[in-house]
Amino acid sequence: MRKSSLKLLVDETICDGHGICAELVPEWIYLDPFGFPILREGELPFSLKEHALRAVYECPKLAIALIESPG
Ligand code: SF4
Repeated sequence: MRKSSLKLLVDETICDGHGICAELVPEWIYLDPFGFPILREGELPFSLKEHALRAVYECPKLAIALIESPG
C-alpha cells in the first residue's frame, strides 16, 4: 500500500508577502528579496505537516493550502 503524500501550495495571486509562512516553516519556505515566499520542490515531509498546517491557518490572506493525496 502506498503512503499518502503532502503538497504545500501558495496562491501567488492572493499572497501579499507578509512572510509569516516562512517563519513557521523555514525548512520548506524562504522569502525572495521582495518578501514573497518560495517553496521547495516536491512532497512535503510528514515531519513538517504540523508546522505547515499552522502556516495554512495563520496566513492572513488564506493563500496557503496543504493538499494530502491518498496513496
Ligand atoms: S503568510 Fe500568506 S500572505 Fe504571507 S507570505 Fe506567506 S503565503 Fe503570502
